[in-house]
Amino acid sequence: MTMKAAVVTRPQHVEVQMRPVPQPKEKDAVIKIEMCGICGTDVHLFYTPESFPLPMKMPYVLGHEYVGTIVEKGSRFPTVDHLGNSIGLGDRVVYINLNCGQCYACRTLLAPWLCMGGVFDDPGEEGMGAFAERFYIKGEGLIYRVPDEVPTEVAVLVDPIGIALAAVQRAHRPGTPDRLDGLGLGQTVVVQGAGAIGASAAALAKLSGATQVIVIGAPQGRLDICKRLGADHVINIDDVTDPAERLEAVRALTPHRLGADVVIEAAGIPQAFGEALELARRGGTIVEVGSFTRQGTIEFDPSLLCYKHLNIHGSWTLPPAAFGMVLEVMRAFHERVPFSEMITHRFDLDGVREGLETSRRLEALKAVVVP
Ligand SMILES: [Zn+2]
Ligand SMILES: [Zn+2]
Repeated sequence: MTMKAAVVTRPQHVEVQMRPVPQPKEKDAVIKIEMCGICGTDVHLFYTPESFPLPMKMPYVLGHEYVGTIVEKGSRFPTVDHLGNSIGLGDRVVYINLNCGQCYACRTLLAPWLCMGGVFDDPGEEGMGAFAERFYIKGEGLIYRVPDEVPTEVAVLVDPIGIALAAVQRAHRPGTPDRLDGLGLGQTVVVQGAGAIGASAAALAKLSGATQVIVIGAPQGRLDICKRLGADHVINIDDVTDPAERLEAVRALTPHRLGADVVIEAAGIPQAFGEALELARRGGTIVEVGSFTRQGTIEFDPSLLCYKHLNIHGSWTLPPAAFGMVLEVMRAFHERVPFSEMITHRFDLDGVREGLETSRRLEALKAVVVP
């Protein structure tokens, strides 16, 4: 049995090849990929692998944001998912395998998403990603059954919405609501970046009770989607090009001209972090979630951190607690919040190259591959 896969064979070259369909070992399974998102990480890996902490060895297949249906499983594949829901043939699942199970983070911190063992994203069998018809999943990974009510085009967003969920949860800390520490009801949240993580963060901040969510980003098409997902105001950086003007616009929108209670930096541009230090009010909170790859350095005045008494958190991918919760958030809110509108482009396997290109040019908010 063979299947189609979009294989990266040399730098910036991807071609559809026929590959043998993997056969699951007794504890593992094979899923049919229903849909797989093109992530910013895929774009970085494809065009600028040197910006990435762990470049992939060629040939490899990209794609890690997938929903798949279990089509084959070994005799000892788990019968329940990570939350205890039954799973079996025919069920749609999302899956992540981030942990080596051996390192300090895995064994002592019990924080598998911070694994130091060099397993960043499970390449599956033989460098396989999910821009393919089939994908191999390990029974020991974190497998979650997609609730029946959640459409595939929402579930496929588990990665960006989950990362945004983890970042929004990070903003709740240290979380003394009656001292207005951390994110709480009635606050103003600024989200920098209108990509899938930024748009998701805007939606989740609104669901978390922010009275004002302001998204700073571009292009306008993405900002319009952010508005439909819950942003109250958007500031287009192509129109308002001066950071001082953006600060003024945010101050004008916040009570007493305080600035933002919470800033979530999801643009991934170093200068945006410098701007976040200005946008946050005294005693405010900043979550840096966008700088997933090395994009250079900036200068800033550290006295601002003291003067403003800022809470600054870094946020790396999604802990299991967020991964499980995001499906529940989707189930509860997908009819109220049109998450699937983030998907602006669809491609088949032959279109992976075009999909990566469209994503790199920021034309797509989220492009997906339907094998
Ligand atoms: Zn991703
Ligand atoms: Zn580990």
